[in-house]
Amino acid sequence: MIKRYPTKKIYVGDVAIGGDAPISVQSMTYTKTSDIEATVEQIRALHFAGADIVRVAVPDMAAANALKAIKEQTTLPLVADIHFNHKLALIAAESVDCIRINPGNIGSKERVKEVVRACQERNLPIRIGVNCGSLESQFEDKYGQTPEGMVASADYNIKFLEDLGFTDIKISLKASDVQRTVQAYRDLRPMNNYPFHLGVTEAGTLFHSTIKSSIALGSLLLDGIGDTMRISITGELEKEIEVGRAILKDAGLTKEGLNIISCPTCGRIEADLVSAVAQVEEKTKHIKTPLNVSVMGCVVNALGEAKSADVAIAYGKGSGLIIKKGETIAKLPTDELLERFLKEVEFEAKKEEEQK
Ligand code: SF4
Repeated sequence: MIKRYPTKKIYVGDVAIGGDAPISVQSMTYTKTSDIEATVEQIRALHFAGADIVRVAVPDMAAANALKAIKEQTTLPLVADIHFNHKLALIAAESVDCIRINPGNIGSKERVKEVVRACQERNLPIRIGVNCGSLESQFEDKYGQTPEGMVASADYNIKFLEDLGFTDIKISLKASDVQRTVQAYRDLRPMNNYPFHLGVTEAGTLFHSTIKSSIALGSLLLDGIGDTMRISITGELEKEIEVGRAILKDAGLTKEGLNIISCPTCGRIEADLVSAVAQVEEKTKHIKTPLNVSVMGCVVNALGEAKSADVAIAYGKGSGLIIKKGETIAKLPTDELLERFLKEVEFEAKKEEEQK
């Protein structure tokens, strides 16, 4: 059983982060934020994909001035990502639900005070986003691009805000590799109780990012560390949400949708299992009810797996079995098995929902 680190609960719009709140999954648009139509479209796609929160880059006045219209056309909580220019943060604060800045790179304390005041007036949290590749020079000179440098930067920025009486904070500590990322989060965790936003930055393509993020975020989540997360992928945005949700599910932190058990196949296989499992994945995507299903290529391990599955297929020679909760309910020719299996899965999902 995972014991989550007790963190302060904050709110980004209506999404709670930290405390006992579910771990949320977020992403970031890659449109020019000043292109309102394109940005709104991307936010909607992320919403449809199941994102809880979305972040947009605010590099200039055109982007800052677009935020009001974007916010009016979307319902997902919006985070404005700002570097260096406090005036952008002041404009953004009028429309968005959270500001991501590093107080240390905003300039004078007076400027940070102005941003903090704007956030306090509107109950907006601030995310301190430490990135190993862009540490403030005083930390990079002393520690290099190391976990020590990231922790020192985060601690400095936290104290900067605390000194101004601001504590609605969440923190990210991202490096582009697994080891530094994990080390930094682990080292900072005992030093405060603010919620952590997890992520490996610039993690690469879907393949590489999935591996890096699964190792890094998986390790941290199993340690009880992490309150919200973003999977950084060079590629299709919606995949960030899909991978994030899969990591949470396979870490045992959410129960949502199907847990599909399928064998790797071998010379004993009695059906086209690769195609069958692909179809199961595709045709059950919409199901949110937690169900265990098993799709196995022959009877060797199928009957054992079926014992703990809600619905299972065991392929045999020319025919196979449909098994529900350990009981065989049908023996059918191979080409009829998949259709019946999918019907039974839908039926079980509906039944579970009705019983809730
Ligand atoms: S279930 Fe059968 S086909 Fe699949 S890996 Fe095991 S022995 Fe091979």
